Amino acid sequence: MPTSQKPHLLCLIFLSSLFAGTLRAQTTRPDAEKQLALAIYKEFVEIQSGYTTGSTTPVAEAAAARLRTAGFPESDIFIGGASPKKANLVVRYHGTGARKPILLLAHTDVVEAKREDWSVDPFQFLERDGFFYGRGTGDDKAQAAVWIANLIRYKQESFKPDRDIIVALTADEEGGGPFHGVTWLLKNHRELIDAELALNEGGWGEEAAGKKISNDLQVSEKYVLNFRFEVRNKGGHSSLPVADNAIYHLAGALERLSHFAFPLEVNDVTSAYFREMANLATGSQKEDLAKAAAGSQDAMSRVAAISAAWNATLRTTCVATLLEGGHAINALPQLAAATVNCRVLPEDSIEFVKGELQKVVADDQMTVKLLGEPHPGPASALRPDVAQAVRRATEALWPGVPVVPIMVMGATDGAYLRAAGIPTYGIQGFFMDRDDIRFHGRDERLGVQSFYEGQAFLYELVKLLAKPSN
Ligand SMILES: [Zn+2]
Repeated sequence: MPTSQKPHLLCLIFLSSLFAGTLRAQTTRPDAEKQLALAIYKEFVEIQSGYTTGSTTPVAEAAAARLRTAGFPESDIFIGGASPKKANLVVRYHGTGARKPILLLAHTDVVEAKREDWSVDPFQFLERDGFFYGRGTGDDKAQAAVWIANLIRYKQESFKPDRDIIVALTADEEGGGPFHGVTWLLKNHRELIDAELALNEGGWGEEAAGKKISNDLQVSEKYVLNFRFEVRNKGGHSSLPVADNAIYHLAGALERLSHFAFPLEVNDVTSAYFREMANLATGSQKEDLAKAAAGSQDAMSRVAAISAAWNATLRTTCVATLLEGGHAINALPQLAAATVNCRVLPEDSIEFVKGELQKVVADDQMTVKLLGEPHPGPASALRPDVAQAVRRATEALWPGVPVVPIMVMGATDGAYLRAAGIPTYGIQGFFMDRDDIRFHGRDERLGVQSFYEGQAFLYELVKLLAKPSN
């Protein structure tokens, strides 16, 4: 060294202090861990676990087999559910017990997918052009696979957390109903999943034009209301048509619904979200986002027009999803009905939504009936330990990417856990193009790099929450 040692030492001191509070994580885990996560992911995706025709039990069994191979004792693995085809898996990795457990949740059922609707086989795991394709690749088998792979890794490295880490892979999140895993576990085996807090799906990373915009942390969610619009009519022979036709009544109501929109509004969480988005945006969008965050109607309507996701963040939405009607080619229909699926802001009441729909329908021959039992859930308080751990793990992997608290448009099992007193946070670290979210749709996919980075992110995050001094 031509110069004295002094600057060199200073430099070292500076560097070490710079890194003292920083976690230096790899963007992805070592190859062997990536391969294990991939193998589990592929296995899960290829099991047909559609919630109406499939079974989650083989997923639970596949996960249990992986855990046994990795040395988890039988006494720490639970398989059971509301029906033999709808099993849940719960596994416990023991910590010192100094603090209450953390629960890592993912659901293993998927929305049905028909081969003819897809360009590829939805139940054949496929890697193509930088993406993993298949039903459940995004919702929610990536997180399910990562929870299992990472838990196995913690065991391999003899990680000693100061709280138990519980992984629950559960049935029938998508359809709810009698086999719903989280409800069944809360009712029958609360002790297995009882925890101080839970991590779940519902918050992912937002990308736009290939750039990471934000790592979203879901703390509240919309709730679901399903309505049946129904018209009954005496019918008759189709050779003698009359204007009073059940299908036309329904078609008119749905046409009116298609032009209707619920009022635009912001709450604490969505206002914080749009403020963050304003910080990240440029030009006229920046101003609109900031004004929308403050509740300006004009700005909110411009922001809602930019993307379906922003529209759904700013208002309750209701959309026709199923149709039924008629009974013969040559008969006037005696019945026409549609199911209308609503995603409701936490502030909007059931009565308000139903009342608005009745006004839209404006047809006294039509009934508007609420289906099932709604489950509005409270927001989780944004715990400082969670916020800090998420920020730290995010900064380690993707420096400069902000963590943004969000309310999600879809509904998750988080609502049930929150209602049962377990604060639940939707966080995944899987980054996706925010204008190309394919959950429930055709050709569902997740980026290859996104999957592996999410694995690394969740590996770090859970360690931070399970052993802060780690
Ligand atoms: Zn899901």
